[in-house]
Amino acid sequence: MIRINQLKLPLGYESGQLLEKTAKTLGVSQEEIRQVAIVKESIDARKKPEIFYSYIVDAALKEGGRRREEKLLKRKKDRNLSISEDKPYRLPDCGIKSLSAPPVVIGTGPAGLFCGLMLARKGYCPILLERGEDVDARTERVARFWADGSLDPSSNVQFGEGGAGTFSDGKLNTLVKDTFGRNREVLRILAQFGADPSICYKNKPHIGTDVLSRIVKSIRKEIEALGGQVRFLSQVTDFEIREGRLRALTVNGSQILPAEAAVLAVGHSARDTFQTLYSRKVAMEAKAFAVGLRIQHPQTMINTSQYGMEECHELGPASYKLTRQTAGGRGVYSFCMCPGGYVVNASSEPGRLAVNGMSYNDRAGENANSAIIVSVTPEDFFHDVDEKNPLAGIDFQRELEEKAYQAAQGKIPVQLYGDFLSNRESVAFGQVKPAFRGQYAFANLRQVLPETLAVSFIEAMEGFGGVIPGFDRTDAILAGIESRTSSPVRIPRDEGLESSVRGLFPCGEGAGYAGGITSAAMDGIKVAEELIRRYAPLR
Ligand code: FAD
Repeated sequence: MIRINQLKLPLGYESGQLLEKTAKTLGVSQEEIRQVAIVKESIDARKKPEIFYSYIVDAALKEGGRRREEKLLKRKKDRNLSISEDKPYRLPDCGIKSLSAPPVVIGTGPAGLFCGLMLARKGYCPILLERGEDVDARTERVARFWADGSLDPSSNVQFGEGGAGTFSDGKLNTLVKDTFGRNREVLRILAQFGADPSICYKNKPHIGTDVLSRIVKSIRKEIEALGGQVRFLSQVTDFEIREGRLRALTVNGSQILPAEAAVLAVGHSARDTFQTLYSRKVAMEAKAFAVGLRIQHPQTMINTSQYGMEECHELGPASYKLTRQTAGGRGVYSFCMCPGGYVVNASSEPGRLAVNGMSYNDRAGENANSAIIVSVTPEDFFHDVDEKNPLAGIDFQRELEEKAYQAAQGKIPVQLYGDFLSNRESVAFGQVKPAFRGQYAFANLRQVLPETLAVSFIEAMEGFGGVIPGFDRTDAILAGIESRTSSPVRIPRDEGLESSVRGLFPCGEGAGYAGGITSAAMDGIKVAEELIRRYAPLR
């Protein structure tokens, strides 16, 4: 196949134009081309409102094979043309070491689910343990929580089948390099289980909470059909470790499950599990993360800035990415931007409140929302310079979440940006209409976000207003606290992906090896590969 980079077509182009342009670029007739496959589709809006698609495509000729392709390349001398070296992703061959018990995967977020799927496909009959409920029961429970504030600490927006991303925007882009083809494999599997196949080539693929919920259920069914087990309401509450090696897991405080190999894919909100691991002397360290507030603007304002027009049905609602370094040296950036989405109550602990963003597949909500977060390092949350407590970041998150909970008596605390600047509680919304999932009430978020971080937040907001006109408008709606951005701890793993305890494999976002749905799923595949290489399958 010949790969063509930077093949541009205008918005609204007709289907035949892709073949036509490919043939023209290669200098052959359309009849000579057997197939054109889109590898990547990006949007080029640098000359907005004139907007282009920019493609990478692979073209196969009907005749002549590789020799003809090479000759053609030589003749064209075009640096946008090359021979495509794409190889399909393949799991490694199985190892020979026998396991005394099936491998266990703790957590069914993207990391655990993809790890479990790969193990099941290779005949390892894994046991997946999930503290929360299956996605249907969980969806009902979360809907109740948003309606009346009744939180279930075991099954909520963070915990349950599909993990933290189930009630999300379902953005699937990642900055992790795809050296081993795992990124494409994740997208291919999501498409196989029901996502629109275009996610495999779109630059910023997205599926929404509704589609994601259906997909995680289908993946679970395949794991079970292949001999694996998925056990809900099964929280790992302890780890039996002898002579530096994992021997068994305790489930729900009483049930003992022998385990020689366990994948720890618990996500970044499993604070009690981190505490248990720490008490069992599993090596872990505090890491930098970021906290801040979520902001809402009218989607039409963002579209105008990004596309040069209020609406563009073909492209859907626009997204943005903003970053700024403050004079004091802190990084401030937009995070988990949700076009046409909702700000949700994403709490998982009683008496503490955290927010996040979500959207449906159609992204039809009136507002764009995004977290604006400020980086914090262990120096910010260690109480004294000698402190080495790896869980100090969790204490810091909890303090902020308690303040957020108290600020509006358990409802999402909300404030207009202008009132945040003036350090006073808001009394009415302006032109931006609120779009929340969960109860909300006005409060003063200056009393929630530490002042040093609030100052950085304001400095960055003024800069962002210069990039997207209106971003710093006084009636933009803020909500807090956005504290679950990434894991506050890292569980180190060696070259064989094991923790300081043999047989315990840290995986995904909670252990510090991913940041988002796709990268967590990729890490799940990576850990599965390691187990497959080592051990013999069970059937
Ligand atoms: P998780 O998804 O957190 O899964 C961990 C699982 O382990 C959970 O189901 C939990 O119940 C279970 N568990 C924890 N402890 C135990 C235990 N002791 N025993 C048994 N089970 C346990 N990312 C994106 O890329 N795009 C987005 O659009 C996006 N939007 C988001 C919106 C929201 C509202 C939230 C909360 C997150 C969003 N994220 C998004 C982040 C994304 O969801 C996470 O990065 C991703 O889910 C991490 O995957 P994971 O498998 O490592 O952990």
